[in-house]
Amino acid sequence: MRRKFIAGNWKMNKTAEEGAALARELVKALAGGGKADVAVCPPFTALAAVGAELKGSAIALGAQNMHWEKSGAFTGEVSAGMLVSAGCKYVILGHSERRGLFGETDATVNRKLAAALAAGLAPIVCVGEVLAEREAGRTLEVVAGQVRNSLANLDARDMLKVTLAYEPVWAIGTGRNATPEQAQEVHAAIRGLLAELFGKASAEAVRIQYGGSVNAANAKSILSMPDVDGALVGGASLKAADFAAIVGSS
Ligand code: PEP
Repeated sequence: MRRKFIAGNWKMNKTAEEGAALARELVKALAGGGKADVAVCPPFTALAAVGAELKGSAIALGAQNMHWEKSGAFTGEVSAGMLVSAGCKYVILGHSERRGLFGETDATVNRKLAAALAAGLAPIVCVGEVLAEREAGRTLEVVAGQVRNSLANLDARDMLKVTLAYEPVWAIGTGRNATPEQAQEVHAAIRGLLAELFGKASAEAVRIQYGGSVNAANAKSILSMPDVDGALVGGASLKAADFAAIVGSS
């Protein structure tokens, strides 16, 4: 039985002070514990302040991106080791905004994945089709290609440390979520591919989150699907009550 995993992607929102305040609210709202693993991924500049507020709680800290090299002349970048030292357990890799706006490819995601695992981080690898690909009936083919290439050269043991996030690009930040059935179809296809690549036991153990306009009202129906193992939440993770309600739906 896979334990659900709800992660909040704060994107480029919240200063250190604002992030600390939101983290304090979340710690209070989720104090009772629950059935799901929970993480929040603030911007780099808020990691320390948010991490300090989360200490002693069940909410883990994650980052939204990293570079694959350990150090060096990479102005503006941070390494996996830096994220570990900032208290991160998780790192989001290959988010569609990174792919679409900052030129990330499956190949760069794959390099980041290897570096994250080597540093002891638990990566959340994002995949998902754009609207034109869905409308052309190419969703499963596109997502399968992203999964294969992003996870290239990974072994079954390392795969167990990875979470996948299926995030249809047309559903991100648009208020138009995939239906539970649309999500389930893609999640089941991803799990089938994972079985082919890593064996049935790994495929059954790996968690696949859905992301794309998840909110307090639609979370329960999406999270009830058999291959949906959690959610990667953008906009609705910026309000403690909404995020807590999503966690409560799992
Ligand atoms: C995301 O950024 O990963 C995301 C799913 O955003 P939203 O929930 O706002 O659609």
